[in-house]
Amino acid sequence: MTNVIDPNAIPTTDSSAGWQPDPNHPRRRPPWIKVRAPHGENYQRVYGLMREQQLHTVCEEAQCPNLGECWGRGTATFLMMGDTCTRSCGFCDIKTGRPSPLDWAEPNRVAESVRALGLRHVVITSVNRDERKDGGAPIFAMVIRRIRQLQPGCSIEVLIPDFKGSEAALKIVMDAQPEILNHNVETVPRLFRKVQPQDHYEWAMATLENAKKMDPLVLTKSGIMVGLGETFDEVVEVMRDLADRGVDILTIGQYLQPSKQHLAVERYYTPDEFDRFIVIGKDMGFKWVESGPLVRSSYRADQQVRELSKLNFIHTRPAVEQTD
Ligand code: SF4
Repeated sequence: MTNVIDPNAIPTTDSSAGWQPDPNHPRRRPPWIKVRAPHGENYQRVYGLMREQQLHTVCEEAQCPNLGECWGRGTATFLMMGDTCTRSCGFCDIKTGRPSPLDWAEPNRVAESVRALGLRHVVITSVNRDERKDGGAPIFAMVIRRIRQLQPGCSIEVLIPDFKGSEAALKIVMDAQPEILNHNVETVPRLFRKVQPQDHYEWAMATLENAKKMDPLVLTKSGIMVGLGETFDEVVEVMRDLADRGVDILTIGQYLQPSKQHLAVERYYTPDEFDRFIVIGKDMGFKWVESGPLVRSSYRADQQVRELSKLNFIHTRPAVEQTD
């Protein structure tokens, strides 16, 4: 398991350590941040399918540094409900504005693509649709059910918005029984106003806690970005809050500034510090902690699920009969 780390090899906490960005060269990155250029047959296949089915991926929209690796392995994270978000977070590269009406045929196209790619695990996310009372939750429920029909045996991970804390919207998703319910807290409570002004820390925590109450068999997952001005100890406090709510899987990765218009990187955490989060997280009881400079919420999600399945942590859901 990648989560086994020797605690004696881990340096002690120092919130002022790390690699500081050079104010004269703000785009210069530390040597351990290496991005692989996309290429290869699998990459071309995923790229072609997304264009053909008129689908969006968070991999492209958010300029994810792992695109070369993930698409090269034939995996991608589907972004549903359009490419325009109703919120304007300071770290995110997805465009903000008034979105188009929901496309009710989109869940079927996503499910067809999951089948075409032969996926055994899929991650599906969406933009925020705050103009709707249900936040677009029915689209998540539809895509889960359609994938169950078209690609039985594929485990489904949904990375959902907070639906402004609406339990009714969350229940629509939970009733469709995803294997993994993911909602990223992203940052520490002190920085919410700066980093994601339309979000609330309490909504994030309530989403994860309520998901578990509604379906005790679901695995819950959350993610934190570091480097936005928080201290190491503040990250540990958020980890504690997540562990107290029974969250099973945690991801921690380095924030990278997508453009000059986005929030600046305050500090780069070292690989040793990311390893230390794994040790602390395992000690708190998380079933899995993925922590590293280029870790993103969906990074190697298929491999995590394979490992968690071996430990009998994944509860496979009943198949859905194909009706057409
Ligand atoms: S880490 Fe997630 S968002 Fe990034 S390329 Fe991989 S699947 Fe896409």
